[in-house]
Amino acid sequence: MTVGEEITLEQLPLREDLRGGSPYGAPQLDVPIRLNTNENPYPPPPELVADVAEAVRREVESLHRYPDRDAVALREDLADYLSVSTRVVLSGANLWAANGSNEVLQQILQAFGGPGRTALGFEPSYSMHPIISAGTRTDWVPAPRRADFSLDTEAAARVVRERRPDIVFVTSPNNPTGGSIPLDGLRGVLEAAPGIVVVDEAYAEFSSQPSAVELLAEFPARLIVSRTMSKAFAFAGGRLGYLAAAPAIIDALQLVRLPYHLSKLTQAAARAALRHADATLASVHKLAAERDRVVESLLGLGFTPVPSDANFVLFGRFADAPASWKSYVDHGVLIRDVGIEGHLRVTIGTPEENDAFLEASKEISR
Ligand code: PMP
Repeated sequence: MTVGEEITLEQLPLREDLRGGSPYGAPQLDVPIRLNTNENPYPPPPELVADVAEAVRREVESLHRYPDRDAVALREDLADYLSVSTRVVLSGANLWAANGSNEVLQQILQAFGGPGRTALGFEPSYSMHPIISAGTRTDWVPAPRRADFSLDTEAAARVVRERRPDIVFVTSPNNPTGGSIPLDGLRGVLEAAPGIVVVDEAYAEFSSQPSAVELLAEFPARLIVSRTMSKAFAFAGGRLGYLAAAPAIIDALQLVRLPYHLSKLTQAAARAALRHADATLASVHKLAAERDRVVESLLGLGFTPVPSDANFVLFGRFADAPASWKSYVDHGVLIRDVGIEGHLRVTIGTPEENDAFLEASKEISR
C-alpha cells in the first residue's frame, strides 16, 4: 500500500480546465527497435562522452553554489553555433536557453500568452503547442493545412490577419508531417501577425530550407526562432532547448523564467557537446539519405509517405492506424500513432533499424 493511495485525481481541487486531461507522451514500451520519438539513433562519439564527463566533473566541485543564472557562456556558444550554421551574425544577447525547447516554448507563452490571449497553430502540428497553451491558460486557435499536410502560406497569412492571435506557431519542418516552409512564405505570415510568431525549428538541421533566423533583422519585435539539441545534436537526454530573437524578447522571458533553471551540469554538458557539433551533425547527412531510402521503399510497398525534410516520415494509408501501430509493436518495432487518421509516423533510425521497420512494413502491407 502506497501512502495516500486512497485519494483519486477526481478528489483533488484541480483547475477545472485541466480535469479529464491526459499527460503528453508516447508509450514507453520495451521494444527492440524504437523509432517513435525522433531522436538521433547514433549515440554520442567517445570523445564527446569524455569531454562531457570531464566538464561535468569540474562543475561538481562547485555544486554547493548556484549556476550562472543567465547561462552567459552557454548562450555565447549557442550564438556561435547558429551564426556559423545560418551565416547570420548573432551574439549571446540574441540567445536564450532552457531545459528542452518545450520549456522555452512555455516561457514564451507565459510572457506573451496567458488568460485573455490566444495562440494559433496550423494543424496537424506539434501537439505540445496547444498543450503548453492550455497550461498557461492561453486560448488555442486551430487553423488548417492543405489536405496533403503542406502549409498554404497565403491562406495562413489570411487567417492570422482575421483572427489576430497574440502568438502564431509555425513548425518548420513540421512535426509530424515533415514539410518545411520557404522564407518567403514565412515572411507573409510575419507581415500579417499582430503579435509574436514562433518558428519552431526543432528539426532545422535536417531541412533543405534556410533558417528563419535569416528573418530576425527584418522582424525583431515579432520573430522568435526556437531550436533544440534533442534531435540532430543527439542530446535528447541532456535537455537543452534554445531560441534566437531580439534582446528585448529575451528580457521579457527573464520575467517568467525560474531563477537558476539551467543547472551547472546541464550548462557544462551542453557546452561540451557543442564543441563536438561537427562530429555529431555528421550523422545528419546519413539520416537524410536513410530517410530517402525509407520513403522509396515505403512507396515500393504501396504506402503513401508524406514528403519529409526531417528525420521522420508520416505515412499511410492504414484502414485502422491504431491496429497497425499494434502490429508494428508485435513485430518488435515501436513507431508513433500521432492521431492522424490512416497514418503513422516513423523516426529514421540506423540502417539496421530501418531495415527492421521496412521488413515489418512488408508483412503488415500484405
Ligand atoms: N518542437 C517540436 C516540433 C518537437 O517535435 C519537439 C520534440 N518532440 C520539441 C519542440 C521539444 O523538444 P525538446 O523539449 O526535447 O527540445
